[in-house]
Formats: sequence, C-alpha cells, structure tokens
Amino acid sequence: MSVKKFTALAATALKSNVTELSRPYKLNFAITYWCQSRCMTCNIWQLKPKGELSLDEIRAFAKENNYFKWLELTGGEPFLRNDIVEIAKAFAENSKDLYVLTMPTNSLCGRQMVLDKLEKILELGIPKVSITVSLDGYRELHDKIRGIPGNYDKAISMFKDLMELRKRHKNLYFVFGYTMSTFNQGQLIKTIEEVKKDIPEIRYNDFHLNLGQVSSNYYGNSDIEVKGAPEIISKEIAEYIKGRSFEPGVIPQIESVFLKKLLYYTKTGEMPMTSRSLEASLFMDSHGFVYPSIMWDKKIGNIREHDYKLSDIWSSDMAKETRKEIKQGKEPKQWTACEAYQSITGNLLSFIR
Ligand code: SF4
Repeated sequence: MSVKKFTALAATALKSNVTELSRPYKLNFAITYWCQSRCMTCNIWQLKPKGELSLDEIRAFAKENNYFKWLELTGGEPFLRNDIVEIAKAFAENSKDLYVLTMPTNSLCGRQMVLDKLEKILELGIPKVSITVSLDGYRELHDKIRGIPGNYDKAISMFKDLMELRKRHKNLYFVFGYTMSTFNQGQLIKTIEEVKKDIPEIRYNDFHLNLGQVSSNYYGNSDIEVKGAPEIISKEIAEYIKGRSFEPGVIPQIESVFLKKLLYYTKTGEMPMTSRSLEASLFMDSHGFVYPSIMWDKKIGNIREHDYKLSDIWSSDMAKETRKEIKQGKEPKQWTACEAYQSITGNLLSFIR
C-alpha cells in the first residue's frame, strides 16, 4: 500500500519534468486563519476570520478533487479546528494515493487534545504523517518572537510526546520548524545546543529551516521587516548544513538540495530554479480562494463559485495567463518548503545539465 502510493507520487513528480501536469498533486491548504500565537514575524494572529470553509464544504472539495498525493494542512493553527480529523479523513478517503500529510503546530493547543487527534489521523492509512513543531529560538528568544511566555517549554514537551507516539506509529515523522528572521538571525546553532539540554538525542537533522517570508495574502506581514541580514543568515545556514548527518532515502536527499538552494537564495535573492506553482501545486485559503503559491497575492478563483471543483479554475484563462507569467519569472521570488520540493523534483534535468 505504502509502496504503491509512493510510486504514484514519484511517477507524477517525474512526469512533471517532461510534460505539463493536467492537475496538481500537492495541495497547500490553510484550513483556518485562527491562531492563538502572537508572532513578531506574522500577522495572521490578528485576524478574526468569519465564514471559513465548513467541514461539509471541505468534504465536497475532497470528493470533487480526489487526486492529491501530498497534502499540507496549515493555518493559522490547524489544530484549532475541532474537525481536523474529519478533514484529514475526507482527503484520505477520496484521494486514494495520498502519500504524505504535513501539518505545523505552534504547540499552544491542549496537549492531550492534539495527541488524541493526531493518533486518529495516524490511523487513517496515510503512509507519512509529518508534524512540524514551530521553534524559532532558545527559551527566551522563542517566547519573545512568539509573544507567548512558556511557548518554548510547550514546544519541547510536544516534541517529546511525538517521540513517544512514534513508538506506536511508524508513519509519524516530526521536526522542529525554525523560521530564520530579523528577530533570531545568528541564533540557530545556539538554539540547537540549548534544545540538546532538554532533548539530548536531538540532531541537526531534526530541525527544518525556513526563511522569514513576506506575503500580503498569507502572513499579512508586508509592514514587517522579517528577512534579516543575508550575510548573517547565509553563514548560519552553511554552518547548519555542515552539522547535518547523512540520511539515506529520497526525502532526505531532496531536503539536502532544498538547503543548498536555500543558501543560494539567501545569498543572491534569486530563485534557484523555475517554480512549479499552479502546475504541481496550489495554495487554497480557508475561504476557498485559490492562489498559485502561498506567497503570491494573486487570486485565480474561488471553489465556492465552481461547485468545489478545481478543474474550471485550473483551466481558466486566468490560470493559463498566470502560468505564462511564472515561466517568464514574474512570480514573486521565494524559496519556501511549501513550493520548493515540487520545484526540485520537477527540475531534475537541471541537475544533470
Ligand atoms: S507564524 Fe504561525 S503561529 Fe505565528 S501567528 Fe502566524 S500562523 Fe500563528
């Protein structure tokens, strides 16, 4: 079952190297913009959204678009949705080849509630369920950036809980998600060393790096200087790469390319390769608006106006025009995990040229 689903994902990703895909295989879906954090890097927490997609609407969407192989359920804080298990189930039941489900958490929801829900999600038959526990610094720094005293300790407890849960569920994967920004630049290695005091077995590989990004449609943070100094951040990415150990497998190799290209992007501000947005993947917000990518404030359509079917939006003139713009390099420059993996696996020829 797992091999079949992996093969289906790998085959589609490989196909994207030689032909334009007729439909996306990855969905980045913000299921809610509610968030109880107070991050300095992001303004989502200030939103009080109304009229977000209901469970029935999400079920209708999952039924109408039953071809996803990779699903990211993000937020806000996704575990604030009481129906997160049912949402994951709707996709798992309809997208028969769903291989990966990824979800972030800020560790601020009730600990047992998250673990109970996660355990139910782990039993849905999805071969890889990956949780990213947000951690942007050592104790004082993380709590300052996140604006919540005690958040660091909750993130550490969450990670330890996941270590226990993994003993019962081999399809569970987890990392700390570290967002590098103006507010923590130069503090990555110190953070890893501090975390080691609480979790002695922690490795560099247990951290996933992201750059602080500006996005008016998603983070709503155009007014915040999040990016930090490229020379400081690129230095710490290089140091981090040196500290990682080799891991076999396809996903660790892609992560390794992701990091090298992250270093390039940080130093130059240039896209490391052509994006596969609106071809391999899309971003959908909690109101059903479809965008090419999480960072591009360009609405292509709304699934509520198309009976929850993506096909009309996907083949619209607007979508075609946007794909042309992407090929012409007009998409905002970005290198985020939400989009980079599809770009890497869809540009394999660039590695052998
Ligand atoms: S970065 Fe995440 S946790 Fe922080 S405010 Fe934004 S959505 Fe919430």
